[in-house]
Amino acid sequence: MGDQFKAFFVSLVLGAIAVPILFAIVRKLPRTWWIWGAIVYCAFFAVTAMLAPVFIFPIFNKITKLDDPKVTVPVLSMARANGIPAREVYQIDASRQTTRMSANVSGLGKTMRITMNDNLLRRGSLEEIQSIMGHEMGHYVLNHTYKGTFFFSAVFIIFFALLNWSLRWSLARWGERWQIRDIGDAAVLPLVFLLASIFFFILTPITNTYTRTEEHEADMYGLNASRQPDGFAQGAIHLGEYRKMSPGPLEEWIFFDHPSGRNRIHDAMTWKAENLKLFEQPPGAAK
Ligand SMILES: [Zn+2]
Repeated sequence: MGDQFKAFFVSLVLGAIAVPILFAIVRKLPRTWWIWGAIVYCAFFAVTAMLAPVFIFPIFNKITKLDDPKVTVPVLSMARANGIPAREVYQIDASRQTTRMSANVSGLGKTMRITMNDNLLRRGSLEEIQSIMGHEMGHYVLNHTYKGTFFFSAVFIIFFALLNWSLRWSLARWGERWQIRDIGDAAVLPLVFLLASIFFFILTPITNTYTRTEEHEADMYGLNASRQPDGFAQGAIHLGEYRKMSPGPLEEWIFFDHPSGRNRIHDAMTWKAENLKLFEQPPGAAK
């Protein structure tokens, strides 16, 4: 409940900044507002993403530098090997909210960082942690944060164009009955939220497929970088606690924003089968 209140307060502050700016654009430029509105919204989105790791995440969780050489030494070595200029590994006390194991890349530009959650550190084997950090480094090296910002900016421009059209259409039909004067009337906001919910609901398979494709890229990068297919398969099994392991192809296409556990384990074992020499002990080597 405390977290809900904090989230409410954060959206209140962000909304109080963004909404008046958007309404000012609508009133000043009634014909082309949707283009300028989309641009301003995307800029706002990017700035928020940049500030979030420093100003928003710490409202909900404690983020600290990880000080456990058993983990940081191999992870930072992998970072150097992959051209990532990281000197620190961060951890977040996600166990306050969940038992789920996770790690992520957050921020934009100078605030970009890779963070592990404490559930992963507590429950994951070192091989598993390395494979998951390889995955997160994949997101970093493949510039997924920037590409994602670009993709979602395009989505928002289409959304604002459709929003403009559908608002005009519904206000011409029901505006008088709903007592909404025009698009510049603040009473239009609930309708905006309704239309946004419908738009992003219909778009679910497309946004999910976009993120799932990037997640698959990060999976393959992570396998190559960490060389820990068994650790990665173990991680997929752990994630199976809250993600269905073996969905049908259509189910995966519509609902999954990450590859299914089954596909991830299959990828890991295919990788291992093609790299078996890395796992064979040379004859006579001490075990
Ligand atoms: Zn990922």
